[in-house]
Amino acid sequence: MSKTRPASAVRALAACGQRHFGENYVQEALAKQRELADLALQWHLIGPLQSNKCREVARHFDWLESLDRAKLVPLLDAARPAALPPLNVLIQVDIDDEAGKSGCTPDQAAGLAHLVAQAPRLALRGLMAIPAPAPDRTQRADAFRRMRILFDALRAQHSGIDTLSMGMSDDFELAIACGATEVRVGSALFGPRR
Ligand SMILES: *Cc1c(COP(=O)(O)O)cnc(C)c1O
Repeated sequence: MSKTRPASAVRALAACGQRHFGENYVQEALAKQRELADLALQWHLIGPLQSNKCREVARHFDWLESLDRAKLVPLLDAARPAALPPLNVLIQVDIDDEAGKSGCTPDQAAGLAHLVAQAPRLALRGLMAIPAPAPDRTQRADAFRRMRILFDALRAQHSGIDTLSMGMSDDFELAIACGATEVRVGSALFGPRR
């Protein structure tokens, strides 16, 4: 996760072989992409997405990890340029059912996945979650395991599903042990955020 980090820090990590970078805000990401246009990087948008930003996301990102409502699907699908491969999409699930948190409910994930799978310019790749910051690790492990169960159920219904994005700097090992296929690590790579 390279949000708040300057392009120079992304470039340094890219020189070590890191290819995938996650950003929360479209404008911040676009500025970095322009500075790093000489590198072959994969950009992930992971943050609340408003409908008026769908066009820019479809044109400038490789992955959207935070799809959480049906309304965005036709907007993204229509805006994805024909010259690019389909936009990789993860559905964000509010696994701990936190009021006010983004993400669909676990019950809504299958329906949303079905819509994405039918959109020709989108590629359904899996699920993403940011579990509640429980100090209790068994509680967090429980959330990760519930995500893995949802993920396996989805994979049984759709081809091409291979990505379960969960785990950050302080819990990525636990997330991997519970079945994450992608972790989103910021401070453990770049140092503490100011
Ligand atoms: C910043 C961020 C991370 C990484 O957090 P760290 O604790 O710095 O590793 C992971 N996921 C999302 C959605 C983020 O915004």
